[in-house]
Amino acid sequence: MNFEGGRRGITADLKRLGINTKIISFSDLTTIGVGGEPYAFAFPRNIDEVKKLFEYIIEKEIPFIPVGNGSKLIVRDGKIPRLAVSFNLFESHNEVEWKDHFKVYASAGTSLQFIVACGIKKGFEGVEKISGIPGCIGGAIKKNAGTKFGSISDFVENVEVLSLNNGSFEIKKVEPKFEYRWSSIGDNQIILSATLKFKKAKPTEVKSKVSEYLKRRYETQPLTAKTCGCIFKNPPQAPAGKIIDELGLKGFRLSKRARISPVHANFIENENSAPAAEIYELIDYVKEKAREQRKIELEEEAVLLKDI
Ligand SMILES: Cc1cc2nc3c(=O)[nH]c(=O)nc-3n(C[C@H](O)[C@H](O)[C@H](O)COP(=O)(O)OP(=O)(O)OC[C@H]3O[C@@H](n4cnc5c(N)ncnc54)[C@H](O)[C@@H]3O)c2cc1C
Repeated sequence: MNFEGGRRGITADLKRLGINTKIISFSDLTTIGVGGEPYAFAFPRNIDEVKKLFEYIIEKEIPFIPVGNGSKLIVRDGKIPRLAVSFNLFESHNEVEWKDHFKVYASAGTSLQFIVACGIKKGFEGVEKISGIPGCIGGAIKKNAGTKFGSISDFVENVEVLSLNNGSFEIKKVEPKFEYRWSSIGDNQIILSATLKFKKAKPTEVKSKVSEYLKRRYETQPLTAKTCGCIFKNPPQAPAGKIIDELGLKGFRLSKRARISPVHANFIENENSAPAAEIYELIDYVKEKAREQRKIELEEEAVLLKDI
């Protein structure tokens, strides 16, 4: 690894390249509000800036991590030796209407809720499956975000990725494989955009389904708390939330600052600036109890960056 430059070097270089940077912590940019400070956050706004940024990253061999809306990430405390590449400002979208369907092109930073809003207006069949999920296209495709009714993969035609390989990159369209909260997009691939296809439906029907889904979310999830959605995948035996509830852990806490949500047992709430270490402790505790008392091995759905 060549990279020995300090944070100041990176931010100055990126400024020269015309790319916005900020020195902030992951706790500032993730919905659960934990995580330490990377070298910097870089915010490319368009494809030219993305290319310049990755040429620079490759040249200097800088370890990096792509970030969308940070709504699935639990990053460790302390200094994080990575450049965080945020796609928050890399947003553009366009839709084309065909006889019986819509094609939607959306870049990595486009919010899912923007797509849902377009879907309500125009009539995108099934868009309610991704309603209320606070992520961007890039993060949602990487993790195949969805609900028990379906996921984003139901609509993905192809994905444009920047693939890093042996000191260079290429940009191409791929058709990833998808499974439950998983996609075949590798760690050397950056999602730049996606083409989604929605059959046509009546806008009024789409609107009423989205309202129904959102109402259920408000009734069953702690939406005003700092969380990262479901912590664990549902194992074959039962929904993870039900298992944790049956273990008697709803509302459980190991510290004053973080707890298992009393509203939905598969959520952890960061109540009062807890460090990541306290969230990890709670996760480990729940896994241990599920193993001991139910012989169930819970697997994290959230992205835990513990060892970077
Ligand atoms: C209140 C709440 C409710 C939620 N409900 C749901 C739900 O119902 N269903 C569900 O599936 N999830 C849910 N989530 C979790 C989360 O919103 C989704 O997984 C979301 O799609 C993650 O997108 P993001 O942009 O926030 O990704 P991030 O959290 O920023 O990143 C997620 C992963 O994708 C990678 N990544 C991000 N952008 C790119 C890119 N451009 N290229 C390559 N890799 C990238 C990151 O490195 C990381 O590994 C919920 C979260 C909250 C806070």
